[in-house]
Amino acid sequence: MYYVYDDRNIFAKILRGEIPSKKVLETEHSLAFEDIHPAKPVHVLVIPKGPYVNYDHFVAEASDEEITDFFRTVGKVARETRVAEAAGGNGFRVLSNCGPDGFQEVPHLHFHVFGGAHCGPMIKRDG
Ligand code: 5GP
Repeated sequence: MYYVYDDRNIFAKILRGEIPSKKVLETEHSLAFEDIHPAKPVHVLVIPKGPYVNYDHFVAEASDEEITDFFRTVGKVARETRVAEAAGGNGFRVLSNCGPDGFQEVPHLHFHVFGGAHCGPMIKRDG
């Protein structure tokens, strides 16, 4: 297997209840909680409960049930935090950093959900 999951990462500790987090919502296969250093008024992290390093690992090895649950949870977070337009908000951004070039700091798959303010251009262009 290409990806080796290391369960000493900080999100694994949150899942095991070893360190606290501000829970936004929880489902059978996913957990959403507030980012400790919010970059926008709404900044929520959504993680699968299973041991997946990043997006590539998750979609290659997770069950259809886990994948469906995860993506629906991202949508629920956008609605429940009221950044989704369907919930009266003004839109949001979903982002997942993967690996060194993606600048991923925590090696457990997470989607960031940003909102409550304009998120600016998608990414800084080289040069
Ligand atoms: P990455 O850079 O891997 O995409 O994002 C990691 C995110 O995890 C960062 O936005 C960082 O603020 C957040 N983070 C790091 N440690 C903790 C923690 O202990 N609790 C919470 N809630 N978020 C954390």
